Amino acid sequence: MSLIVQKYGGTSVGSVERIQSVAQRVYQTVTAGNSLVVVVSAMGKTTDGLVKLANAISANPSRREMDMLLSTGEQVTIALLSMALQEIGQPAISMTGAQVGIVTEAEHTRARILHIETDRLERYLNQGKVVVVAGFQGISSTGELEITTLGRGGSDTSAVALAAALRADFCEIYTDVPGILTTDPRLVPEAQLMAEITSDEMLELASLGAKVLHPRAVEIARNYGVPLVVRSSWTDDPGTWVTSPKPQGRSLVNLEIAKAVDGIEFDTNQARVALLRVPDKPGVAARLFGEIARQNVDVDLIIQSIHEGNSNDIAFTVTTPILKRAEAVAAAIAPALRSHPHAPAEEAEVMVEQNIAKVSISGAGMIGRPGVAAQMFATLAEAGVNIHMISTSEVKVSCVVGAQECDRAVAALRSTFEIAEDEAIGGQRGQGGQRGQGGLIQETSPSPAVRGVALDMNQVRLAIRQIPDRPGMAAKIFGLLAQHNISVDMIIQSQRCRVIDGIPRRDIAFTVARMDGENAQKMLAQAGTELGWGEVVLDSAIAKVSIVGSGMIGHPGVAAKMFAALSQHQINIQMIATSEIKISCVVAQEQGSKALQVIHEAFGLAGSEKFVVPA
Ligand code: ASP
Ligand code: MG
Repeated sequence: MSLIVQKYGGTSVGSVERIQSVAQRVYQTVTAGNSLVVVVSAMGKTTDGLVKLANAISANPSRREMDMLLSTGEQVTIALLSMALQEIGQPAISMTGAQVGIVTEAEHTRARILHIETDRLERYLNQGKVVVVAGFQGISSTGELEITTLGRGGSDTSAVALAAALRADFCEIYTDVPGILTTDPRLVPEAQLMAEITSDEMLELASLGAKVLHPRAVEIARNYGVPLVVRSSWTDDPGTWVTSPKPQGRSLVNLEIAKAVDGIEFDTNQARVALLRVPDKPGVAARLFGEIARQNVDVDLIIQSIHEGNSNDIAFTVTTPILKRAEAVAAAIAPALRSHPHAPAEEAEVMVEQNIAKVSISGAGMIGRPGVAAQMFATLAEAGVNIHMISTSEVKVSCVVGAQECDRAVAALRSTFEIAEDEAIGGQRGQGGQRGQGGLIQETSPSPAVRGVALDMNQVRLAIRQIPDRPGMAAKIFGLLAQHNISVDMIIQSQRCRVIDGIPRRDIAFTVARMDGENAQKMLAQAGTELGWGEVVLDSAIAKVSIVGSGMIGHPGVAAKMFAALSQHQINIQMIATSEIKISCVVAQEQGSKALQVIHEAFGLAGSEKFVVPA
């Protein structure tokens, strides 16, 4: 017998008939000998409808009243589902978030869960009742009792948090898709259903998977080791398991970490190889990393910033013991990459830096929270640490700094982000975990190099030219953006340093959400006159394509394969950024979906059957 939390999304409870069929599934699960807590969303598009009503009355409704309004949607569903269960002879009781005691911060419309009272739930479960709980809502306990909501899509988070608090055997998320697919089936009909994915991979795929599973729910599952499965409400198919590392016995107080950063990592065993002034055309990265992979050299970070004139700089890091080999490969290939055989000043050149360290901050809390990267840069600036290289992904920011500055950098970051020295550093990121199925613990199979491929067409790129190269500039730029509530992604600092007006200068490029592009450009151009940087260039015709997989760690050639797929189709790579389990490339927007297809195909993710997107 297991204790299971099931969650049904809006479409799954969209009509009387659907609520009745959910009741049937719940009944069967109980009859099979399980105890059940069921979390439901508002019926169909109810929440959207309520938002519309509010907007018809006020352009700027108060956040408190929005919570009062939106929390009613779920209350309708819990009562109806309870009635449907009682109607078929299954004892059931409905409860709002406040009745359960889902205690949250006093932050209307985006509250995080602090803890969950389990007494009353357990009492009903022991009486053989199914408890039907309203998703997406809670109650704040500081000062007055206030109804709060967790933010759109928050019912997944309610369900996984309940599973963690009740120490349930697993949590099932029922939805209108069969699980998590290797990519967006609307763009690639050959997308396949994944049998499993790690929670870290799922977080890095946020732009692909966020509609299926709220990232905050994934974070809770990861932190508490809750086995999680995403399945279709319409079938009995097994769906996709999201696996997590073994739980670390974390306290159930402050259940949803309020911290944006929960891990600090560093690696002093790194060296950097940069290729300067390689031609900006398709195939260059493929050739370089293809050769590197053939020599079995495993690269860590790879970055390519935006081009300057007709050329790019590409840099990568390797562990010190293999530096010599990596350097030799780069040096051998450089002459073949020369763009201007007759202009020596424009020749590709290899630059090696030995005494460097990589320092990273990580945490799912940084998703949708502007300013975390800025805080890191500001901390490093205050500690007098210059940043040589920046690379970011969804849940991680890595900076390359001088090796002799590593200790100072780490100490400063620990104090800023309040991470104790003995605190688990980011769990065991990138590792498969265990899962329970009906009480059975199963080992997961090793992760494939690439689990899924995502395309993000909703970003634009900004490039700031000729930023004075001194500590504190990155902090200024990203601090300004954070002040304006603009989240940034894929920050890349150029390798090339040029002296203009006696000051060494570099470019920094990054992406932001499309809707923030013009504002950010204006604001940064203004600030530039005072802070002494050059032009701020906006390119809105870009797309970001990413591969994610824990298996790419220690597996040379994954980047090379991605770049080769793009090169074979004459797709130019404009920018590259990586983390341990993710590689992202910026390409021209009109080539975005082609890029997605060819990469998906190259990694053998395409199936023989076409996926039919439900209407
Ligand atoms: N009903 C809420 C929404 O539509 C919460 C949820 O369904 O997860 O955002
Ligand atoms: Mg949802």
